[in-house]
Amino acid sequence: MNIEKLKSAFTKVFGVKENIQLFFSPGRVNLIGEHIDYNGGCVFPSAITYGTYAVVSPREDRLVRLYSGNFEECGVIEFNLSDLSHTEDEHWSVYVKGVMEQFEKMGFEIKTGFDAYVYGTIPNGSGLSSSASLELLVSQILKELNGYEITMIDMVKLSQRAENDYVGVNCGIMDQFAIGMGKKDYAIKLNTNDLSYEYAEADLGDNSILIMNTNKKRELADSKYNERRGECDEALALLQTVADINYLCDLSEEEFNRVSNVINKDVLYRRAKHAVTENERVKLATHALAAKDLKRFGQLLNQSHKSLRDDYEVTGKELDTIVELAWAQEGVLGARMTGAGFGGCAIALVQNDALETVKEAIAKGYKEKIGYDAQLYVATIGDGTKTIA
Ligand code: ADP
Ligand code: MG
Repeated sequence: MNIEKLKSAFTKVFGVKENIQLFFSPGRVNLIGEHIDYNGGCVFPSAITYGTYAVVSPREDRLVRLYSGNFEECGVIEFNLSDLSHTEDEHWSVYVKGVMEQFEKMGFEIKTGFDAYVYGTIPNGSGLSSSASLELLVSQILKELNGYEITMIDMVKLSQRAENDYVGVNCGIMDQFAIGMGKKDYAIKLNTNDLSYEYAEADLGDNSILIMNTNKKRELADSKYNERRGECDEALALLQTVADINYLCDLSEEEFNRVSNVINKDVLYRRAKHAVTENERVKLATHALAAKDLKRFGQLLNQSHKSLRDDYEVTGKELDTIVELAWAQEGVLGARMTGAGFGGCAIALVQNDALETVKEAIAKGYKEKIGYDAQLYVATIGDGTKTIA
C-alpha cells in the first residue's frame, strides 16, 4: 500500500492536520475448520496482508468524522461521541459505533474525537472478514488515541461483541481472533471452546495459497448462517440427552458415531456430523502442516469442502464450480470454500510453478460456466492489527 497516497487522500477530505497516525488491520483466511467456531471446535486461520488502513488525526472536540475510500458515496459520516445510538441510515459507521459502545461498557472513557480516512484492500462481503478487520482497526485507534491499557485479546472479544450486539451478526470469535492476533508466516490453531491457541509455522514449501473470489454476493448468508446455528443447537440438545457435552465438537468422531442415533432427523445428523468431522480434520491438518506433508494437508482441504457441500450445505453453485475447477488442475494440492459460504471466497493450495497456468484455467473455466469473472490473487500471511506510525 502506498502510504503517501493514503495520507494525501486524508488531506483531500479533511484538510492539512497535525498528529497524523497510521493504522492497519488485516483480513483473514481460514485454512481449515469451517463453521465450527460456534460449536466449540478448533479452527486454523491466518491473517493476510490484504487489509484495512486508517489515517487518523485526533480532534479537540468530541466529533468523529469518517470517510472511506471504499464507500465514497457515503461521503463524510459524522457523529458526536455523546450519542452513539444506532441511526436508521447508519451504513459502515455501525462498526465504529458498535466498537465504541463496547469500550464504554468496559469502563473506558472515549475522550477525543477524531478524523479518519479508511481504505481497505479486502473485497467486502467475500468471506475474508473485512468487517472484523474494521472492528479491530477501530479498537486499535481508540486504544492509541486514548492511551488505554487493554490487551489485544480483550479487543478481540469486544470486537466480536460489537458485531453480535450492535451490528446484529451472530458471528463466532474466529475472525476477530485471527485478525487481532495474526502473525506473519504463522497460522493460529485456536480452540474456540476455551480460547487457548498456538501459533503454527505456515511453511507451505513451494506452494502458495490462492484466494478465489467467486464475486457471488452472499445473499441470504446471514439468515442461513443463523439457521445453521439453530440446527446445531437442536442437534446438540439431542446429543446432550446421552452425552455430557457443552458443544458438538466436544465429541470425537468415534464418540459421535456411538451416540448419533439419538439424532432422529437426517438434516440435523448431517449438520452435527460436519461439525465433528471438521474438528477432527483440523487436528489432522495441523499435524500434516507441522510434518510438512502438504499433499495430506491438501486432501484434508478437499474433504472439508465436500463436508461443507454435502452435509452442511453452505457452498452453492459458484463456490462448487470454482473449487471443482481448482481440483481439476495439475499442481493443485487441495481446495475448499472459506468463510461463511453461499458465495464469497474459496482457497486453493497451489504449487508455485503451476500458479500462472492454474489461475488462467480457473479464470477461463469460471467465466464460461458462471458468466462473470472471478478474482484470483495469491495470499501472503501477514501480521495482525497494528499501529504503523
Ligand atoms: P465480510 O466481513 O465478509 O467482508 P461483511 O458483510 O461482514 O462482509 O462486512 C462488510 C461491511 O463492512 C461493508 O459493507 C462495510 O459496511 C464494512 N466495511 C468493511 N471494510 C470497509 C472499509 N474499508 N470502509 C468502510 N466500511 C467497510
Ligand atoms: Mg463480516
